[in-house]
Amino acid sequence: MTLPVIALVGRPNVGKSTLFNYLTRTRDALVADYPGLTRDRKYGRVKRGETPYLLVDTGGITDDVDGIDSVARRQVQLALEEADVVLFLVDAREGMNSADEAISTMLRKLDKPVILVTNKIDGINAEIATADFHRLAMGNPVAIAAANGRGVNELLQRVSAELPEATEETDAELHDQGVAIAVVGRPNVGKSTLVNRLLGEERVVVFDEPGSTRDSVYIPFERNGKKYTLIDTAGMRRRAKVTLVVEKFSIIKALQSVEKANVVIYLIDASEGITDQDAHLLGMVLDAGRALIIGFNKWDGLDFDQRALIKRQTEVKLPFLDFAEKHPISALHGSGVGTLFDVVHKLYDAAMVDMSTSILTQILKDAVAGHQPPMVNGRRIKLKHAHQGGRNPPIVVVHGNQTDLISAAYERYLINYFRTKLKLEGTPIRIVFKSPK
Ligand code: GDP
Ligand code: GDP
Repeated sequence: MTLPVIALVGRPNVGKSTLFNYLTRTRDALVADYPGLTRDRKYGRVKRGETPYLLVDTGGITDDVDGIDSVARRQVQLALEEADVVLFLVDAREGMNSADEAISTMLRKLDKPVILVTNKIDGINAEIATADFHRLAMGNPVAIAAANGRGVNELLQRVSAELPEATEETDAELHDQGVAIAVVGRPNVGKSTLVNRLLGEERVVVFDEPGSTRDSVYIPFERNGKKYTLIDTAGMRRRAKVTLVVEKFSIIKALQSVEKANVVIYLIDASEGITDQDAHLLGMVLDAGRALIIGFNKWDGLDFDQRALIKRQTEVKLPFLDFAEKHPISALHGSGVGTLFDVVHKLYDAAMVDMSTSILTQILKDAVAGHQPPMVNGRRIKLKHAHQGGRNPPIVVVHGNQTDLISAAYERYLINYFRTKLKLEGTPIRIVFKSPK
């Protein structure tokens, strides 16, 4: 299943970022807060019920293109091209204006499902305020107040109705094809070089499926009798040399390939250091819950000081990824690339682990004995037993009472305790707390 994309479009000040924040902050409780993690204000992974999707705020679309650099503009364009559903926000208080009309004309050409959303209906008569916008001929508008969440559930229902049904089919297909690997990272870090080197290894047999659909997103191969599938949403393998860096890089495609993978190899250009965009992208990789190798590429050209700098930057900028495997490589020369397969396997095994209820419950009891949850309102939070709730990432369901009062710090303590006892390296672990109502 490809991660569906919802794009927020509208002129400035209609409430796009307010809606974006509302939807991404009330996200599934599975995604905890981590120290050091700052969120990208334009891309957010939202999970409601079973279906995750990617929410993209395109920013204010205006006629004035000078204020926005070409890379950002290109990403807006890609977001519209790659969107499954477009939410077209207008301001119900201000009423319709010519910018709204211009945007509606543009959206009609896109030929995608567009949902007209009239925002800011708090404290005004929604019906009257909304009536005006029927002139845009964009179908029945959904009236919301992004500031307080009114109408948002109805909006999400409309969105779901436009999305394809979630299926397990792709997952099943992938399991059949062994370990699914995604190689992601910013432009020019060496993804294409690495992919071609991995597939070009002597022991690797690549199966080219004739006529395979969707731009050969899946590249199955075998190495030492083991099966793998490379997820190549960015066309890294057959990339024409001439494409512009800006053209070929799509944040959305990168995140979609992460979603399809079991193990992600995130490449950083070690000669440039860890950038803010790396930190943002890695934050979203973390949300997807995949096992993670951070490959410090172009290690070949680095001197002693640069290598030390990368280590320090990793501690300062990526403390939320302490679980990830860090691996210096040179995709160009091949050093460190051969052992990547062993690391991939180790992480895959950790991500797909089966954990018995009795062992998980025992570890939970030991953890609690070592460090009791704090008292809340004079009562101690009780954690009683645990069982497995999922794989890739491994999910531990912990039953107790007052578990909604558990602090993020205590949750991290438990996660680290489970990680150490179960020797789970390279994969995030999630805890879901359950208390009787
Ligand atoms: P954007 O430029 O489209 O991203 O718009 P913002 O999200 O920054 O919102 C613009 C202004 O509208 C801010 O002052 C918000 O507080 C306000 N706003 C957003 N949503 C609502 C709403 O539902 N009701 C009201 N009354 N104000 C809102
Ligand atoms: P992509 O945009 O992430 O797919 O990056 P490419 O694979 O196209 O590589 C970008 C540039 O970095 C090319 O000129 C590569 O030759 C160079 N490059 C890739 N890997 C390495 C490496 O390990 N060491 C050095 N020195 N250069 C590399």
